[in-house]
Amino acid sequence: MALYAELHRHLGGSVVPRVLWRYFQRHSTNLGQKFPEYQEFEEFYTKPRNTLDEYLELHTLVESVQSVETLPYFIYRLMRGAYIFENLAYLELRYTPYLRTPDHLSQSERIDQMAEIVAVVGKASRVPEYPIVTSQILCMHSRLPYEVNKAIVNLAVQSRDYVCAIDVAGGDTHYKERLDEFIALYDYARSLNLNTTGHLYETTDGCYPELLPYLMRIGHGIQIPLSHPELLSELARRNQCLEVCPTTYLKTGTLEDLRQLKIVFDRCFDAGVDIAICTDNAGLHNVRLPFEYENLLTQDIIDFQQLKACQNAAFRHAFAWPYGSQPPASLLHGLLQPEAPALAESVSN
Ligand SMILES: [Zn+2]
Repeated sequence: MALYAELHRHLGGSVVPRVLWRYFQRHSTNLGQKFPEYQEFEEFYTKPRNTLDEYLELHTLVESVQSVETLPYFIYRLMRGAYIFENLAYLELRYTPYLRTPDHLSQSERIDQMAEIVAVVGKASRVPEYPIVTSQILCMHSRLPYEVNKAIVNLAVQSRDYVCAIDVAGGDTHYKERLDEFIALYDYARSLNLNTTGHLYETTDGCYPELLPYLMRIGHGIQIPLSHPELLSELARRNQCLEVCPTTYLKTGTLEDLRQLKIVFDRCFDAGVDIAICTDNAGLHNVRLPFEYENLLTQDIIDFQQLKACQNAAFRHAFAWPYGSQPPASLLHGLLQPEAPALAESVSN
């Protein structure tokens, strides 16, 4: 049995269109009235956008309905789908907790409410009937002020039961004017022994080599093998893993054709840089993790051996997988094939 690890999934983009549409219908919201038929809503929700910024706008739509009251509803459905349809054994879920607090509150009140959001997400993602090892990554945001981002780092430190790392998201063009601030925040996080990843080198506007030394994994990072391959040996030396999310690049207009990723995989394999294949926004794309794998295989971007290497790398680079570098297959082997030696014996007799 193949069980997978998902390292890069946004809570906002993880709601599949049908669950979101049904929620809008049940709560007779404006969007529910605007899209009485499911099919129209799915087209609106999953269609490709021209830029990363335009694509990220869609997250605000989901954020607006994910509150402390409704998060358990969405997370239960997320865990159910991940277990039943995706064979996930491990899931890191990421989001900006500040953006799940009510926007009529003051900044300091919203900061104070973030801990409750983390606890609600943590409890809701532990579903006994759908057992998946889960942890959270808290995302700093390129459009939020320094004080909020620093509070997010502090919250991650105080919530180690539920949180395994921090990230920065919100569109990589926008780090430029505040690069020193983000370097300081990552430096601060590392000094507190926090694990780190960051959305970086996703688009050609998001290439900041100054941030790279602070990251243990790189969210996307595809522009490194594509346009800055001279950096790959450094990445290999630091054992940094790229979180590659194939469908995203088509939805954001970053790539025109998935086959452009072949060069990403080839150069990383050659340089000894690990890649974890991820979904980013499985709901928003309506593409679940096994289909990301299958698409890469059918388009000859990777072969089965390379896929296996990426799947194992995902467990090795997981921040909160409790079994070290052992993927589930090695743990299950004895359980699933207990009869094998006896069978072999009886055949030979
Ligand atoms: Zn992402």
